[in-house]
Amino acid sequence: VLATALVAALAACGQEARGGSRYQPDKGKGGTIGLAMPTKSSERWIADGRNMAEQFRKAGYKTDLQYGDDKVENQVAQIENMITKGHRLLVVAAIDGSALTNVLKRAADAHIPVISYDRLILGTKNVDYYASFDNERVGELQGQYILDRLGLEKPDEDADKHYTIELFAGSPDDNNTKYFWNGALKKLRPFLKTGQLVVRSKQTKMNQATTLRWDGGTAQKRMDDLISKNYGSTDVDAVLSPYDGISIGIISALKSAGYGSKRHPLPVVTGQDAELASVKSIVAGEQTQTVFKDTRKLAKQAVRMGDALLDDKKVEVNNTTDYDNGKKVVPAYLLKPVSVDKSNTGLLVDEGYFTAGQLK
Ligand code: BGC
Repeated sequence: VLATALVAALAACGQEARGGSRYQPDKGKGGTIGLAMPTKSSERWIADGRNMAEQFRKAGYKTDLQYGDDKVENQVAQIENMITKGHRLLVVAAIDGSALTNVLKRAADAHIPVISYDRLILGTKNVDYYASFDNERVGELQGQYILDRLGLEKPDEDADKHYTIELFAGSPDDNNTKYFWNGALKKLRPFLKTGQLVVRSKQTKMNQATTLRWDGGTAQKRMDDLISKNYGSTDVDAVLSPYDGISIGIISALKSAGYGSKRHPLPVVTGQDAELASVKSIVAGEQTQTVFKDTRKLAKQAVRMGDALLDDKKVEVNNTTDYDNGKKVVPAYLLKPVSVDKSNTGLLVDEGYFTAGQLK
C-alpha cells in the first residue's frame, strides 16, 4: 500500500518527480553527455555540437560529440556506444526521426534521459524534452517574404498580375520538414488558389517537392529539370527554398540557365540557417532571404535543460501541446527565428554571429 501511495504521489508531482530512478539523480553534476549530431556537411551542426560541448563543459560535465555523416546506421551505432559507455544524458539531432525507437529503448532501460535537439524524434515515448525553434514560424517567414517581395497583399481572383513560383521542401525523414512546408504554404496557398501565384510544374504537394537529406546537389538537379521543362518562354519569379544549402543548388541551376544578369535577374529565393556562404550570397544580391536561427541560443537552451534534468531541478519549457511524436506530446522549448535579407544582415554582425569582415 505504501509503495502504491509513493508511486501515486510521485506521479502527481509530474515531470520534476520523474527524476527518480529514471535519471540517476543521486549523481548530481558530472559525468559525460553524449551529443549525437547528424552531419558536418552543414556549418550549423558543426556550430551546434561545438557550442553544446563548450557549454556542457562549463556546467561541469564531460562531453562525447559524434557526427553521423547523414547515415542512420552510423548514428544508431554512435548512440549505442554512448549507452554502453554509461553516458548520463543523450542530446540527439536525429538523421531520421523515426529510426531511433530501438536504440532509445536501450537508453531508457539504462536510465539515460534523452533531449531531442532541433528535430523531433518520432514514435517513441523515450524522449524527455525537445529544444528547437518555432519551426512553423520559419516557414511562415519564408512564405511571407515571397509575398512581400512580389507585392502580393491580398488574395484577389480578379488580379491581372500573375507570378510564377516553384516549391522545394526539406528531407522527407526530418520531422521539421512538414512544419516548414506547412508554415510557408499557409501564407502562399491563398494566392495559389486565386492564380496570382502559379506553379508551372504543378508540383504543389510536399512529397513532390522534398529533397532527401537536404542535399544541395539533389535540389540543383530538380531545379535544372523544372526550368528546362516549364520555363522555356516564361521566367520563374520566386522559389521557396527551406534551407541555405538547397538555395545554393537552386541558384546554381538558375545561373546555368542564364539567370543572374541585369536583363535577366534571379528570382526571389528564400533560405534558412544564415550560413556564411548564403549570407555572402545575400550581400552579393543573389540569394534573397534566409531565416536566422541562433544556434548558440539553442545550444544554451539544450544545456540548460540537460543540466536541470540531471540536477533534478525544474526543466523550463514553453510549449506542451504542439510536438506530438506519435507516442507522446514532448514538452518543448521553442526559440524565435528571424528573417534576414540584404537590409538587415548587419543584425548578424551586431549579434556577434559573424564579423563584418566575414561578410565582405
Ligand atoms: C533544421 C534546419 C536545417 C536543416 C538541414 C533542419 O532539421 O531545423 O535548421 O536547415 O535541418 O540541416
